[in-house]
Amino acid sequence: MTTASSNTIKILRTVQQVRQWRRQCLLNGKTVGFIPTMGALHSGHCSLISQSLKDNHHTIVSIFVNPSQFAPHEDLEAYPRTLESDLKILEDFPKGNVVDAVFVPKISEMYPSGITLEVPKQKGAFVTVQGCSEQLEGASRPAFFRGVATVVTKLLNIVTPDQVYFGQKDAQQCVVIKNLVKDLLIDTNVNVLPTLRESNGLALSSRNAYLSDEVRDQSSIIYRALSNGKTFYETSTKKTNQPVKSSDILNEIHHTLESKPDNFNIEYISINHPQSLEELEFVEPGVGAIISTAVRVPKEKEEGEARLIDNVVLS
Ligand code: AMP
Repeated sequence: MTTASSNTIKILRTVQQVRQWRRQCLLNGKTVGFIPTMGALHSGHCSLISQSLKDNHHTIVSIFVNPSQFAPHEDLEAYPRTLESDLKILEDFPKGNVVDAVFVPKISEMYPSGITLEVPKQKGAFVTVQGCSEQLEGASRPAFFRGVATVVTKLLNIVTPDQVYFGQKDAQQCVVIKNLVKDLLIDTNVNVLPTLRESNGLALSSRNAYLSDEVRDQSSIIYRALSNGKTFYETSTKKTNQPVKSSDILNEIHHTLESKPDNFNIEYISINHPQSLEELEFVEPGVGAIISTAVRVPKEKEEGEARLIDNVVLS
């Protein structure tokens, strides 16, 4: 076990070290909050951490770029790895309000049977959450939620937190995790917190590091378009309290997106039930919906595109 400088955060590298730490918390009658991350920490991650620090006696963060959620052609190699600055961000929380531990495992620690990105060649145990993993992000990234559900199951098994925290930014992930915890009878409470954004509205994301300032600026159109769809829905329901046609909301969003740059490619914009993720023809007040999108935008330094996802919630 190693300890980071002034603010004494324990850096735990092995499953056994985390279990030992967790056991001590339990013996002392203390609650534990947990925030799983892939690092490259930003204010979005920090808002989850702050909430856990408020809610629990102890907080642990994991930093692990999970290979099994990347397809062979995706950005596993390029994904930003910034452990030193991540630790600095964690140490710089106000004194007396700092996480207790960071779990930074090696791939072999998390995948004792080994892991290859090619699903048909994989060996060992994997977790799928059927019914909510196939659509939206799952349609573009078929093994993505299998990878997410697998690593989150492992992490929850290791940490056994009282509370675990996720961001609404990854709306479908939240649905997958809630179903995972429900169906596998995992003894933890799932908290979903609002999306943090840059001042122009762009959702904070570790992948924003791929963008030039110009594209970052232009990408604000994504949230503006979703917000206009939301305002259209709210204005309609305020007047009539009747269900609103999804196609009318989508028209409003597409209208805003008419002024997007030509090299922005919209993968999908979809309106879905907030729990079942079923695509909705109408949005009913009181039931609500999630409007979500994925947009591919040019990267700054290399060929290819960065995928930005975002969503707004209708109630
Ligand atoms: P990641 O490191 O991207 O796997 O994200 C770790 C956690 O932080 C996930 O629960 C994300 O949903 C959450 N998160 C990422 N971006 C944001 C954001 N802009 N606001 C709030 N939470 C976020």
